[in-house]
Amino acid sequence: MNNFSYVRADDVDSALRLGAQPGAAFIAGGTNLVDLIKGGIEQPRMLVDITRITALGQIQESAQGGVRIGALAPNSDLAVHPVIASRYPLLSQALLSGASAQLRNMATVGGNLLQRTRCYYFYDAGFARCNKRQPGSGCAAREGYNRIHAVLGGSEQCIAVNPSDMCVALAALDAVVEVRSLRGTHRMPLTEFHRLPGDTPQRDANLGAGELITAVDLPASRYARHSYYLKLRDRASYAFALVSVAVGLELDGEHITAAGVALGGVAPKPWRLVEFEKALQGRRLAELDLSALAAAALGSAETLPYNQFKPELARRAIVRAVRVAAGLEEA
Ligand code: SF4
Repeated sequence: MNNFSYVRADDVDSALRLGAQPGAAFIAGGTNLVDLIKGGIEQPRMLVDITRITALGQIQESAQGGVRIGALAPNSDLAVHPVIASRYPLLSQALLSGASAQLRNMATVGGNLLQRTRCYYFYDAGFARCNKRQPGSGCAAREGYNRIHAVLGGSEQCIAVNPSDMCVALAALDAVVEVRSLRGTHRMPLTEFHRLPGDTPQRDANLGAGELITAVDLPASRYARHSYYLKLRDRASYAFALVSVAVGLELDGEHITAAGVALGGVAPKPWRLVEFEKALQGRRLAELDLSALAAAALGSAETLPYNQFKPELARRAIVRAVRVAAGLEEA
């Protein structure tokens, strides 16, 4: 492990000044970053502790009827917050399906957005080939054991998946990420926050050096009555998704008036199913061939020897999650 200095920021402005220094990294819960530092994968020169900035830990209803979630809100607090549990149950379900109770107590919203892939080759420096860890070195997963890897959105350079449950729900809920730096504040849809690997797999997110996630905004409550997060994994708890599906529906009688659907565990970023959503809107569930629509949504999937099961698992998961969200099946 490399040597680094440690400083504590008292407010956002001081955090931004400290974070702008070369080699600086922000730390909050540390549930992923500390492991990465121990493994030599991240080698910051200075850790800027932002955990004492209480203004970033709040969860507040906004004047527009939505909710503003501070980047330091712990995942456990967010999951059981009365407004989130009652108006955004999709987010509560996704959060509670992730990690363990102890980790959720430490992990923050901002850290969850930035957690890195769980590709085993990425974490094991004994494997020399990993373009995400060492650009230009190759990808051990392509010819190796690729059971957990991407079937959508990958590249020749990297096929790692984003491991977050929370972000899949946030994608379906049209969340917006707020980012601050010394240059000012900007916002972007969550679906544009994470990057596809392309030729730069070392960059997971559209976040520059010294930029700090300050909040996630949810629009006015959607899908409060009809939503479901389905997570399929090797163990019933404390395991990452092989496939997950976040579904939110607005129903007017039997007609679907709005839909938000996103996949996890299959791509380097939460994978919003825009065309699938359009196919649902304005239609009666009974007249839809959900299985065919889900298969079409996965039509561009590319498999490798060990992850050939994923498109079919995802197709079935989409159908089941939509039916549960609509109240046609028990969870
Ligand atoms: Fe590295 Fe990505 Fe290949 Fe995994 S899939 S070994 S993270 S380059």
